[in-house]
Amino acid sequence: MAIESEVLVIGGGLAGLSSALAAAREGADVRLLSYKQSTLRNASGLVDILGYTHDGDGPLTDPYEAIPELPSSHPYRTVGVDGVREAMAMFDDVTDYRGDHTDTNALLPTHGGTVKPTARYPRGAAAGLASDDRDVLLVGLGSMVDFDAPHVAAHLEAAGVPFEARGVSIEFPGDLRADAKVTRYAKLLDTNGEVAVGGRMVGARDALADAIEPHLDGEARVGLPAILGDDHPDAVRAALGDALSVDVFEVPMGPPSLPGLRLEDALFEAVDEAGGNFETGNPVVDYAAEDGHIEEVYIEKNGARIPVSGDQYVLATGGLVGKGVESDREGVYEPIFDCHVPHAEDRYDWFDLDVFGDHPFARFGLPTDEQLRPLTATDSVEFDNLRAAGGILGGYDFAAEKSGSGVSIATGHAAGTNAAQEAR
Ligand SMILES: Cc1cc2nc3c(=O)[nH]c(=O)nc-3n(C[C@H](O)[C@H](O)[C@H](O)COP(=O)(O)OP(=O)(O)OC[C@H]3O[C@@H](n4cnc5c(N)ncnc54)[C@H](O)[C@@H]3O)c2cc1C
Repeated sequence: MAIESEVLVIGGGLAGLSSALAAAREGADVRLLSYKQSTLRNASGLVDILGYTHDGDGPLTDPYEAIPELPSSHPYRTVGVDGVREAMAMFDDVTDYRGDHTDTNALLPTHGGTVKPTARYPRGAAAGLASDDRDVLLVGLGSMVDFDAPHVAAHLEAAGVPFEARGVSIEFPGDLRADAKVTRYAKLLDTNGEVAVGGRMVGARDALADAIEPHLDGEARVGLPAILGDDHPDAVRAALGDALSVDVFEVPMGPPSLPGLRLEDALFEAVDEAGGNFETGNPVVDYAAEDGHIEEVYIEKNGARIPVSGDQYVLATGGLVGKGVESDREGVYEPIFDCHVPHAEDRYDWFDLDVFGDHPFARFGLPTDEQLRPLTATDSVEFDNLRAAGGILGGYDFAAEKSGSGVSIATGHAAGTNAAQEAR
């Protein structure tokens, strides 16, 4: 027999978690179904609202000011500036992020040596702000080739930051394997596990500080790749900072991204505390509907199809990256409900010949009404009790605009709130 809940959310990324949290806070009985890990595993963990306009102008100082100027098909226009603010207030309430004191975008150094406009950043990245004029020593680890500290420092200086940046590369103390994973470093620092240095066993935090110390030349800040603990990052940063008498910060990295995974954990915890339920690890593969009303969906579990039902549904399965939208030789489609995804017939019209050009595929996704309900090709709602949120929505290019997490949080919050209010 189908399991009943008032709001059923499909997808466990930023959008699904924001939906489930908003719906649970409205007092609805919420169940979240999710399959694999979300994009947060790959993303930086920074929360961008809007860094650049639709036309590529920027970096923007105030993302909220630019929202009313976006095309009417943009998800932010559906949610509205007040909707984005309400969603960010919910996010700020359940996370330990910085940036909520101002509407102005912060500028953060990236592991590629660029400076990125972002609205919210983890506490561990705060001492790295590019608007801070204190000099910086960046410390790379020989085994982590995607953070070349001297190269990053040179790029930051070339970008015109108001401080001197130097980069050095050291080996992580002890005899970790050359291909040790980010999580291995994090665990060692979390537990302050002992490592062998010069024939002595030393706590990993002190050993790392000792390895950095000879490279300091009066800098007030030291930046490392985001490996500084998974469970206790504040304690790891504080220990290194005390030992070196500097402020220590993390530079967000590519996959696997510890800041992204920490954020995912914090949001699952918040949904749990708000009374939401989860079922992770199995995909939703199909649905049953009558007269444009979804009756139940089916998850595939050990070869069986298990029906799960809700009163209202939120589809938050991600975009082309998350597999919420798929493409093949026939076209572009949404695989669970077969919702309409507008796209040109001719595949050659899906992209621009210029690699850095304006690629239509980057905006592929579902069009919706003002309630975030997906629309058919003739602009009627696909199902009266289905809403969509996050990367599955069309009309925005998260990578070009720097708006990915912001759109997922804002539309997730709106879809979850609307679904809960309708279910009550
Ligand atoms: C490499 C990279 C770097 C990024 N960096 C930034 C950044 O610096 N700042 C920023 O703001 N944004 C960034 N983004 C964008 C941002 O991370 C995403 O826009 C946002 O996380 C998308 O969230 P989502 O919940 O919509 O989708 P996803 O994170 O894709 O989540 C979709 C969820 O749905 C689940 N799912 C899919 N199909 C099914 C199914 N059939 N049944 C059940 N569950 C299903 C998935 O397993 C997953 O849990 C980055 C993205 C990438 C790829």
